Amino acid sequence: MTEQITADACVIGGGPAGLVFALALAAAGRDVVVVEKNEDFDRSFRGESILPDSVWLLDQLGLLQPLRDQKVLEAHGLDISENGRPLLSVDFRRFDQPQPFPMEIPQPMLLRVITEAASRRPGFRIIRPAKAVGLLRVSGRVTGVRCQTQQGELEIISPVTIGADGRYSKIRDMAGIEHHKAPLERDVLWFKMPYPQIWEPNRYRIRIKQDRHAIFLPTHPNMVRVGFNIPKGGLKDTRAAGIGALHDRMDELAPELGSLVREHVTSWSDTIMLDIFTTVVPQWSIPGLVLIGDAAHTLSPILGHGVNHAIMDALVLARLVDRALAGPDTGTALDRAGIRFRLVREGKVRQARHLQLRQEKIFTLASPPATLLRRSLYRMINGLPPVKQRVLGRAYFTIPQVADPVAQQLQAAEA
Ligand SMILES: Cc1cc2nc3c(=O)[nH]c(=O)nc-3n(C[C@H](O)[C@H](O)[C@H](O)COP(=O)(O)OP(=O)(O)OC[C@H]3O[C@@H](n4cnc5c(N)ncnc54)[C@H](O)[C@@H]3O)c2cc1C
Repeated sequence: MTEQITADACVIGGGPAGLVFALALAAAGRDVVVVEKNEDFDRSFRGESILPDSVWLLDQLGLLQPLRDQKVLEAHGLDISENGRPLLSVDFRRFDQPQPFPMEIPQPMLLRVITEAASRRPGFRIIRPAKAVGLLRVSGRVTGVRCQTQQGELEIISPVTIGADGRYSKIRDMAGIEHHKAPLERDVLWFKMPYPQIWEPNRYRIRIKQDRHAIFLPTHPNMVRVGFNIPKGGLKDTRAAGIGALHDRMDELAPELGSLVREHVTSWSDTIMLDIFTTVVPQWSIPGLVLIGDAAHTLSPILGHGVNHAIMDALVLARLVDRALAGPDTGTALDRAGIRFRLVREGKVRQARHLQLRQEKIFTLASPPATLLRRSLYRMINGLPPVKQRVLGRAYFTIPQVADPVAQQLQAAEA
């Protein structure tokens, strides 16, 4: 027999978007059920670089101190170099913001801390492992979701269902919402190894050589996360060349790490591939259902914007849903909230996507005139501190760190 439960909102997906939404709505006194298909939060290489804006939002949610207690890392600076020569150096301390530093927070730790905070709210419930397998509808309106759990089938009946099931969203497909996937020119291979002792701590590094580059991010507890580009769909050929090809690539970009890389990356199974694409979803809601986070707009990992937008989506939508649930005609109010949500958020997401695509294009330049232009551009920015503050500020500080940024975004969309 199918069990049935009811809630003010039902969330599919316990990632950053779904969990922050649930935390914010439960904090407003509503009943929220999160359905997560995995039993635990174990995921590596996912969303570990957290922009200063998100650090600030996490602080507003009371989550920053519990994260700091687990000794997460702050990045204090960024160095970009080409062929071993410095091009651009950024000191995050120079940004006059309450939270100027990006942080490196492993996603399992982040999700655990959000869930612990949400679990202190009586209205919050997470069911896992539980996989959403179908949407419930009455007269075309989504009225909840059907899930498979270890105990059997479960139906969650709710006036609003939130599709927060990530970049390969099945809820989006079940809802019949179209999406356009745009692959970027290259994929990225990631690996981790101990943080090199010869390097100054707490700095991001980007090393470039023609159209090849690698990024080096300090990561918890005392490691470095390395990502380097490979041709789109080129994993098989890259692997066929043997692990020595990876060592050679690192010798090109970070020769001082040669022995460390050889010691800690001994086979391709020490690496993980990220298929880089962005997704544009023209419609983020249908009656009774709203998509948020990667399900609504997959971004590329360049500059680490994905978690930022997932958190901001969650907070804006939770405010709108709470207000809609308080009114008389809940169904109509929730549908308006879904439409308003996209109007508020889409512009910011589009800006982030353009910024990422522009940055990726700059990294792919290969010809001597084009690389000369790139070098000159970075050096020019580096030599003009006010320009550097403005350019980097646009990448790293995308929402105002003010008392109520959600209200600010809602007002800005109205203006
Ligand atoms: C390799 C990699 C590296 C990245 N690095 C960064 C970075 O450094 N910084 C950054 O900001 N962003 C980064 N991103 C992007 C970032 O991880 C995402 O933008 C962010 O996690 C999106 O959050 P979300 O909650 O929308 O989706 P997700 O985090 O994908 O969460 C979706 C959740 O839904 C669950 N789910 C899916 N289907 C179902 C179902 N049918 N039923 C129940 N549950 C379901 C999944 O198990 C998952 O827990 C990276 C992404 C990848 C893949």
